[in-house]
Amino acid sequence: MRIGLGGIWQETNTFAPQPTSLTDFQRYQYFEGPDLVAGLRGTGTELGGAIAAAQERRVEPVGLLFGAALPAGTVDRAAFETMLHALVERTRAAPPLDGLMLSLHGAMVVDGHPDPEAELVAALRAVVGELPIGVSLDYHANVGPALPRLADVLVGYRTYPHTDMAERGAETMELVIRMARGRDRPQRHAVKLPLLTVPPAQEDASEPMTSILAAADAITRESGVWTASALPGFAYAESDRLGFTVYVAGDRHAADRANELAAHVWDQRAAFDAPLVSPDRAVALARSGPAPTVLVDVADNVGGGSPGDGTALLHALSRAGARAAVAVLWDPAAVDTAHAADGDRLTLDVGGHSDPMMGPPLRATGRVRRYGPVTYLRSGSYMRRQRVDMGRVVVLEADIGQIVLTERRVVPFDDDHLRAVDVVARDARAIVAKGAIAWKAAFGGYAAQTVYVRTPGYCPAGLDQLAYRSRPAPLYPLERGAEWEAAVAGRQIPRSSND
Ligand SMILES: [Zn+2]
Repeated sequence: MRIGLGGIWQETNTFAPQPTSLTDFQRYQYFEGPDLVAGLRGTGTELGGAIAAAQERRVEPVGLLFGAALPAGTVDRAAFETMLHALVERTRAAPPLDGLMLSLHGAMVVDGHPDPEAELVAALRAVVGELPIGVSLDYHANVGPALPRLADVLVGYRTYPHTDMAERGAETMELVIRMARGRDRPQRHAVKLPLLTVPPAQEDASEPMTSILAAADAITRESGVWTASALPGFAYAESDRLGFTVYVAGDRHAADRANELAAHVWDQRAAFDAPLVSPDRAVALARSGPAPTVLVDVADNVGGGSPGDGTALLHALSRAGARAAVAVLWDPAAVDTAHAADGDRLTLDVGGHSDPMMGPPLRATGRVRRYGPVTYLRSGSYMRRQRVDMGRVVVLEADIGQIVLTERRVVPFDDDHLRAVDVVARDARAIVAKGAIAWKAAFGGYAAQTVYVRTPGYCPAGLDQLAYRSRPAPLYPLERGAEWEAAVAGRQIPRSSND
């Protein structure tokens, strides 16, 4: 038996001005044909998990095409169309397949393609006909009505910070193999709730997601149920797919179980709250509290598509005369300047170059350490063994602490990116984390205190800070009176997509 593997994976923040191009995919993760299996085998990614599961069951994984880019602005049309065309052609040219396992993020926005993941599955469906197609999705997937109909099964991550990609990839592969061997298909039911939530409120270890995920797991364990997902979605996109998705696939009762789970989520809607403090207050807490304190720069969340050069917290650290902080800034111009300059002691204007919104640059003086292109393998719980390229790096030993300047944007999902340039985050007094929750995969093991900070950026925790020009309405909490009524056993079912 042979199962084809592929996908296009990106989370799009339409508020981020820089578009995402084919080069962004090619630089981050891009594999075609046999290179896909060779490159992703043994990694903690969805396809890495799928490859392991296939081989355990003596199924041959066939690499088609997989492209992934870091979260950023809208994907340009040519990038998507080029990859989709190549994926379709490789599927057509592959040896006879028995099914497909696709790794899709689920929150991609492409210029001119309103529901790209559904379109991708439809294009492959046209090639493989009735063969089973299983899709793994990120926790932040914005699932539209078409995808649950087009794919035979969807499997969403159940962790945030995301640490279960390999397990979900393996689960998806096992369901595809089951369908290919048994020829049966599950009933599928997706419910879309008019509920918008922000990353700081979506952590799996905190309520309300702890109990929501436990309810989804309990449904998955019921006899006859294949899988259940509770997907909070990604708010930072002008997309008609915004909102919380609940999905159940099973031999029977999929609609009832999905509606029950959706009702549970809806009842908890007021609990998706994220209290924040000002940068100055946050720095005061870091100075008086236990070390290391993680100062969470929520709005400049690189993993949510913000540029990662916001300076609000650096200025606050500087104003307070703070010492021994660690911060990473995306600043290719400062990296260039430092590499071109003579001497080991420099004054640099760092950060704040991408958008006036990200704050003015910070002028900082200190000894610099220069690094040529830095690549490393992730060793933590996020996409273990995935290779990451930071470009050239400069570490500036400023008064406030070590400022790591990178040529490429770096997501703080591991602390290997700091170790690669001889920075020991564990020893810092304060760590500026440009993320919402995912940074816990890097620093969560030794963070002594965590402070969520109100900063500027493209991923604000206050949804009222975003100027949506178009979005579905009503959506709670933007419209406090938004209504959804769960309907179980024969009552009217609003806002749901049937199988
Ligand atoms: Zn995510």
